[in-house]
Amino acid sequence: MGSDLLSQTKPSTGPTQGKDPANQSTTALLSSNTNSSLDDPSTKDYPSRRPTTTVLFVVAFLLLTCIALSATFAFAFLFFSTSSSSSDSSSSSSVTHSSARPLKKLEHPVVLLISSDGFRFGYQFKTPTPNIHRLIANGTEAETGLIPVFPTLTFPNHYSIVTGLYPAYHGIINNYFVDPYTGETFTMASHEPKWWLGEPLWETVANHGLKASTYFWPGSEVKKGAWTCPENFCMFYNGSVPFEERVDTVLSYFDLPGSEVPVFMTLYFEDPDHQGHQVGPDDPELTEAVARIDRVLGRLIDGLEKRGVFEDVSIIMVGGHGMVGTCDKKLIFLDDLASWIEIPADWVQYYSPLLAIRPPSGYAPSDVVAKMREGLESGKVENGKNLKVFLKEELPSRLHYAASDRIPPIIGLIEEGFTVEQKRSNQKECGGAHGYDNAIFSMRTIFIGHGPQFARGQKVPSFENVQIYNLVTSILKIQGAPNNGSASFPTSILLPSK
Ligand SMILES: [Zn+2]
Repeated sequence: MGSDLLSQTKPSTGPTQGKDPANQSTTALLSSNTNSSLDDPSTKDYPSRRPTTTVLFVVAFLLLTCIALSATFAFAFLFFSTSSSSSDSSSSSSVTHSSARPLKKLEHPVVLLISSDGFRFGYQFKTPTPNIHRLIANGTEAETGLIPVFPTLTFPNHYSIVTGLYPAYHGIINNYFVDPYTGETFTMASHEPKWWLGEPLWETVANHGLKASTYFWPGSEVKKGAWTCPENFCMFYNGSVPFEERVDTVLSYFDLPGSEVPVFMTLYFEDPDHQGHQVGPDDPELTEAVARIDRVLGRLIDGLEKRGVFEDVSIIMVGGHGMVGTCDKKLIFLDDLASWIEIPADWVQYYSPLLAIRPPSGYAPSDVVAKMREGLESGKVENGKNLKVFLKEELPSRLHYAASDRIPPIIGLIEEGFTVEQKRSNQKECGGAHGYDNAIFSMRTIFIGHGPQFARGQKVPSFENVQIYNLVTSILKIQGAPNNGSASFPTSILLPSK
């Protein structure tokens, strides 16, 4: 039963409860925003002496005026150059020097959350991407990319982005897993609410009586709470819908009467993840996929500009996870461990890039781990040192990958670019993969925020994607559900509201 899991998968952190991050940020940052109210201090030095009838005094007056004016200009120059250099010297401090730009046309803040799946951080430099760079130049970018959650797979990450929860808490612990109590299998086509824990943004928005729309996103077709997956505003996944059609549909929402425009919209593209798997991250085919995503983004920007809402919409562009090339000899075979312990295929829920094993009752997971380690560390198993197995409770805590019974008891972390398979074969394919430890740089994706509350040209340090939920509720000025993100995060990256 799903409820068995629900009771064990409540989020442990609750700093966001009962607080409105948007209000906090406004108060904190406005109190330090004193520059705008300062008069030019040089005007206080303007001379007040009155000239006499003598030429001498006139000359003296003129001289004094010149000196005073020079002083005024010098003072003004110093003042303005100091204030501008202080805002330039630290990108984060620019937040304290300005506030959110007012909406010109929209009645309510609108967040458009875009995912270009598998858009590894750095792809934006592969080829000219003028539209992506336009958003970066006029918005806020995670300077070294967005950190995905572990495992760095599509479903766990996309659902973390919209719930602010780590997979152990939102329940989608992998793209594929087995419920240990019912034996039922979760696949990417499972839409029953029992699998999908937590409160995704479209549900939060609907709970506030506001409208949301989803043009594909993992979990969006699941009816939960006030979210009914409304017709025409909740698209059922169909990868064959052209990207242009997706963009045009989202644009058409802006033609609705003001109060009917959804305040939160998602837009999902399978590329360049699709090409990344097939040909790896360094193939020209991948580069072309990146260029195509940029063109589709250009179509979106054009459409928003034509409607006069481009500067009003808060665009958040992310990618779920990155990608790394996998090739040839970087293979580890479970059958090679047979001298220490036999791992039958039906113990294995997932091979790669995270190994997930649930041995049947009668086998102590700790014994299985000990024997596997003995084999992997013996030096006799090919590439053995590139697979580290753990009881899930012993995984590094930074992975947050233990607090759900859905997570099998034995988890193997695989070195970047390696693949685990059951048995040897002659098939050696080159391609790409993701799902590895989220500390690996190639697993990072992009974060770009563009809109009224994002400072122009601002660079922020990398952060985990569980922070995005609070960012969106803060922009929309609604109370979010408890989650693993930090309540203070939005104030660190958004301009304060007026
Ligand atoms: Zn993928």
